[in-house]
Amino acid sequence: MAKLAMFGGSRTIDRGSVPAEQIRWPIVTEAEHESARRVFDSGSFTSNSTGGGEVAALEREWAEFVGAPYCAAVSNGTAAIELALAAAGIEPGAEILVPALSFVASAVGAVQRMLVPVFVDIDPVTFAMSPAAAKELITPRTRAILVVHLHGLPADMTAFRALADQHGLLLIEDAAQSHGASYLGQRTGTLGDIATFSLNVVKNLPTCGEGGLITTADPELHRKVVLHRQFGEDLTRRERDYVSRVLAGNAKLSAVQAAFARCQLDRLAEYDAARQVNVRAMFDSLADLPGLLLPAVPEDRTHAWHILRMRFDPVAMGCPEVAPGALRTILHRALRAEGVPLQQYQLVPLPWQEAFRERAGFGGYPWKLNDVAPVTHRADDYPVTTAVIEDSLTLQRWHLNPNSGPALLRCAEAMHKVWENLDTLIPIARSVEHRPPWSEFTEERVEA
Ligand SMILES: *Cc1c(COP(=O)(O)O)cnc(C)c1O
Repeated sequence: MAKLAMFGGSRTIDRGSVPAEQIRWPIVTEAEHESARRVFDSGSFTSNSTGGGEVAALEREWAEFVGAPYCAAVSNGTAAIELALAAAGIEPGAEILVPALSFVASAVGAVQRMLVPVFVDIDPVTFAMSPAAAKELITPRTRAILVVHLHGLPADMTAFRALADQHGLLLIEDAAQSHGASYLGQRTGTLGDIATFSLNVVKNLPTCGEGGLITTADPELHRKVVLHRQFGEDLTRRERDYVSRVLAGNAKLSAVQAAFARCQLDRLAEYDAARQVNVRAMFDSLADLPGLLLPAVPEDRTHAWHILRMRFDPVAMGCPEVAPGALRTILHRALRAEGVPLQQYQLVPLPWQEAFRERAGFGGYPWKLNDVAPVTHRADDYPVTTAVIEDSLTLQRWHLNPNSGPALLRCAEAMHKVWENLDTLIPIARSVEHRPPWSEFTEERVEA
């Protein structure tokens, strides 16, 4: 049995031994260089007008790709959420359901519109918001559901559509991680009333920096998004009149970013196809490791594989007495030592991020707009979210590269090595005193 790198054995994946061509992201080709020169030569650098230029071309191409009638490009994925909510005209103080497991931006976009995020526990299979848990949290003040297709897998949209229709709620997709994924044959971006995407450089459709896209089938929502994108000005007029029709800021996308994203969009389907093969091959080679739970993909949807999340089950590993968090900590150490770049994604449920615990907001708003009850932070408020955070690790970058197949198989090889050494690792896991990060503030009560 090979000695673990953690105990002085040789690393499975030596530092620098993985060729950059296999794991770099994003991939920049001659097409991207050429597109930037095209913008510089055009003299048209932003999206002050509608109809022409790189920004409008990206909007047309993305609308066509996802199958949505309308698309507006904006400055980033967080601004996209804020603008989608602005376009919907939801009043300050209203509640919006947001998943307890996501990137913080999913809730920040709402708070910036003075909406109160109400956090909902997740589904253990999809890792997206649980429709059953969402239903329990709907109040007369609820106006919208913001569903995140977490890690690239579409959420249970049939259930969310029914819930939204039943209660007259706006259904928003935060599709920042799910470019190209589909549900019942329809791409994310067409599954709710309005959808937001990020073009951040780490996403599946990256630009050279920051960017975002908003899709919808509703011409009125689209018109309002465009109005809110630039100072409330109506740019469909022949000449710019500098009249602000609604109070709004500036969230336009630059032409260089649009041109770069168009090059990436040309290759998105090809990269996605390669990713399906590479990820599947890695998972196939891991299928026989006891206690390793690989992500499930229900038959009615496809996965964009933005993030790969693997869960570890102490019971199936024959150590039911070990806390899942302790086991995950030891596996993390062992796998990092072997050179596998695993990370935790979100250390606490979103509502327990300090910003939300303290409810500082804008001088206590938007929460002050409601007679919100005092907050309690009970450890069992988000049982699935906390269980998933405790017992899993994620792979976040290498697999985005379409040539990552060999690198992923080396990760799998390292995992096999670690599993062969479980007998040495489990006693260590048993002896560590594990406290989840929220043990410091759960059960405490904070006055609103
Ligand atoms: C990245 C991300 C965002 C924010 O996008 P930015 O372009 O970085 O502002 C929002 N929601 C989710 C789920 C994300 O992963």
